[in-house]
Amino acid sequence: MRLLLIGPPGSGKGTQATFIAERYGVDHISSGDLLRRHVASGSAIGRAAAACIDRGDLVPDALVMDILRKPVEAASRRGGYILDGFPRTVAQAEAAYRVAEPLGASVRIALHLSVSREELTRRLLHRGTQTGRTDDTAEVIAHRLDVFAASTAPLLDYYAARETVISVDGEQPVEDVTRAIADELDRARRRLGIALPPQRDADDPRSAPASDAAPSAAR
Ligand code: ATP
Ligand code: MG
Repeated sequence: MRLLLIGPPGSGKGTQATFIAERYGVDHISSGDLLRRHVASGSAIGRAAAACIDRGDLVPDALVMDILRKPVEAASRRGGYILDGFPRTVAQAEAAYRVAEPLGASVRIALHLSVSREELTRRLLHRGTQTGRTDDTAEVIAHRLDVFAASTAPLLDYYAARETVISVDGEQPVEDVTRAIADELDRARRRLGIALPPQRDADDPRSAPASDAAPSAAR
């Protein structure tokens, strides 16, 4: 299964991607987390990306592709992936197709989390006080929300013309968002005939991989 998550900063992408990855047995690949790891380690990529992140601008596509290629290829060889924070521009979406196609894979579902600007700002200001993330300050938050609207939101139409787009109200409590996503994904699976792996539950022998799994191109 290949999913990508499109939502503004603070919409809960990381939280929900963790749940989806566990439930469906796919890798959670977060471009933001990977970039922050590079920044923390002081790698060349991290040094090149840090200023963009701190301003709330997008990191150049070439750097992002550099760090994502390997995790995406590795995840493709396993059960698939959920991309969190990537693609963020139409150019990145096109690059993502170029990576995915030789792997026999196409993006099948884009999941959109919608949250109002007021609620996003409230959440991110709060996160800033908790985690000290350098880009969770009032001015940078406002800029990141503008960047999302200008550069990333157009991806929703881009994908609507190519793939299945699912939209979920991300302003509800976390568990309600999680439940809405699970319901929508199950509905999409039935509609598209995609075999999503059954929920992983170590204690339940019935949660072994389904024997009617779809061919790999549809996973
Ligand atoms: P959320 O709070 O929902 O996790 P976010 O936008 O606050 O979303 P990240 O996705 O972690 O946080 O991104 C943080 C920063 O990392 C972005 O502002 C940007 O500078 C950089 N970044 C992350 N992904 C990309 C990408 N695909 N292309 C370019 N820059 C990116
Ligand atoms: Mg995140």
